[in-house]
Amino acid sequence: MKIYICPECGQFREASRRKEVICYRCENEVQMQPIKLSMEEYFNMTKEEREEYSKSWLYIHECLHKKKN
Ligand SMILES: [Zn+2]
Repeated sequence: MKIYICPECGQFREASRRKEVICYRCENEVQMQPIKLSMEEYFNMTKEEREEYSKSWLYIHECLHKKKN
């Protein structure tokens, strides 16, 4: 199992390793990205810590995306 994040809404999801992990929250089948968190680290995080992680991940992702354009 691995932790994935949705680049659109920041939703986390645990999934077994496979090619495509689709966000169940977004309507337009967004492919989720694997993140560098182990299952243990993820489960030890509080709801607030997860929200923080999600926010900073989206922020970094957005910055990288902007640089490319
Ligand atoms: Zn989503």
